[in-house]
Amino acid sequence: MSVASESRVHRPISDLAEGLRRRVTTALHDYQMLGPDDRVLVAVSGGKDSTALLLLLEETRRRASFSFSLQPVILDQKQPGFLVDEYRDWLASRGFSLAVIERDTYSVVVEKIPEGKTYCSLCARLRRGILYNYAHQNGFTKIALGHHREDANETILMNMLFSGRIAAMPPKLRSDDGRNTVIRPLCNAPEADIAKFAREQGYPIIPCNLCGNQANLQRARIKRLLGDLSSEHPRIAESLLAAQGNVQLQQLRDRDLWNFSTFEQRGVQQSTRN
Ligand code: SF4
Repeated sequence: MSVASESRVHRPISDLAEGLRRRVTTALHDYQMLGPDDRVLVAVSGGKDSTALLLLLEETRRRASFSFSLQPVILDQKQPGFLVDEYRDWLASRGFSLAVIERDTYSVVVEKIPEGKTYCSLCARLRRGILYNYAHQNGFTKIALGHHREDANETILMNMLFSGRIAAMPPKLRSDDGRNTVIRPLCNAPEADIAKFAREQGYPIIPCNLCGNQANLQRARIKRLLGDLSSEHPRIAESLLAAQGNVQLQQLRDRDLWNFSTFEQRGVQQSTRN
C-alpha cells in the first residue's frame, strides 16, 4: 500500500490549478476534513473529477503543515470495456500506485434491474458498500470523493423537486454505520474549471457510460436548467452553494427542527430523518 511519497512527480501548477487548489484548501479548512496522520482513500473512477481530486489533494499534501497519506483506489465493476491499464500507467508516471478492487457488480445490476429502468442507484449503492468495507478493513481514516459544486447544486434541486426534501451533498459526513468518514474536498470547485484542468493535465479518462445504461435523465434535466439560468445570471451556482450553508430554519416549515410553539430550534437525530 503506497503512502505519501517523496518520489511523486511534482510539476509547477498553472493559475487554473492554483485556483482549484485554493478552493480545496478552503474546503479542507472550513469543514475540518483532514488531520495529522490521516490515511485517505481517494476513490477514483477514471473520470475527470476524481482524478482532479487526487492531483489537487497531492498538491495540498505537499504544502501541508502536517502529514497525511493518499491512496488512489479504483473499483473495477466489470462493465464491458472497462480498461484500467492506461489510467494506472498514467498515475504511475505521476508517482501514484493505484489499488484496483475487482467486483462484478455489473452482472448483479443487469440481473436485478428490470429492462428500461436505470441501473445507477443500485450500482452506486453496491459500489459504496464495497469501498466503505475496503476502507474500514484496510485502516483508512477518510474516504475522499470527487463531487464538486455542480453535483451539490443539482442534488439539492433534485431532492426538492422530485423527493420533497431539502438535502444536498455534505462536504463531510459519517457513514450510517459509523465506520467511515467521507470527505468531498472539491465541494467548492466549479465543474467547468475541473474540465479545463483535466484537459490541461492531459490524463486519460475511462468513459462512464460503459454499462450502456441511460444517463440519469432527471439529473441531466436539472443540469440543463442550471446551465440556462447561469448563462443569464452567472452567480447562480455560487448563490445556490452559499444557500446550503445559510439555512434559516425559522423561514421554513419543518416541525421536527423548529418548535412553532416556543419559536426555538429542536434537536433532531439525523438518522431519524432519512
Ligand atoms: S452510469 Fe453505469 S456504472 Fe455509472 S453508476 Fe450508473 S449504472 Fe453504475
